[in-house]
Amino acid sequence: MLTMKDVIREGHPTLALRAKDVKIPLSEHDKKTLKLMMEFLINSQTPEISEEYELRPGVGIAAPQINISKKMIAILTTDEKDEKLYKMLLVNPKIVSHSVKKTYLPGGEGCLSVDREVEGLVLRHKKIRVKGFSFNEITEELIPVDFRVEGYVGIVIQHEIDHLNGILFPEIVTENVDGIDPVVFPIQEDIEE
Ligand SMILES: [Zn+2]
Repeated sequence: MLTMKDVIREGHPTLALRAKDVKIPLSEHDKKTLKLMMEFLINSQTPEISEEYELRPGVGIAAPQINISKKMIAILTTDEKDEKLYKMLLVNPKIVSHSVKKTYLPGGEGCLSVDREVEGLVLRHKKIRVKGFSFNEITEELIPVDFRVEGYVGIVIQHEIDHLNGILFPEIVTENVDGIDPVVFPIQEDIEE
């Protein structure tokens, strides 16, 4: 299993590289890496395991964060309405188009590779269209995908694809979000009320 020792941090040169396309069909090593990435996210969100191994909870991880400079990302999160689970292992993902409208996470972003508190917000596209391949870890099939996603999950995917382009979120924070609507999390707001 992967632990925080396997996650490289801000300042490591691999995080600044452009990741390479993954060769298809996938090598056994790449398949194993993808499975480990998803296992890490599951473990990190399982309280008993994350406490025992001191894992920071994560909703996404990109292969460069475990020092593998290849275009592979794992996503494990529900949308902001907590209605739909997005459990995805994406290979060679690419944003092929996006909305003009932007959005942002009202609390700012975080990253397994960034250990400090970062001031500022990250402007993201409100909607994106993603093409690439989805790896099914049970059947080991690699299926071409072309999907649209918006809001919170879209932000998570944009954050992870940034890792494939050598970009860390502290490099793109801004203070100015005038006229831009943040992602709204209706359930959390209900709890606060
Ligand atoms: Zn990150």
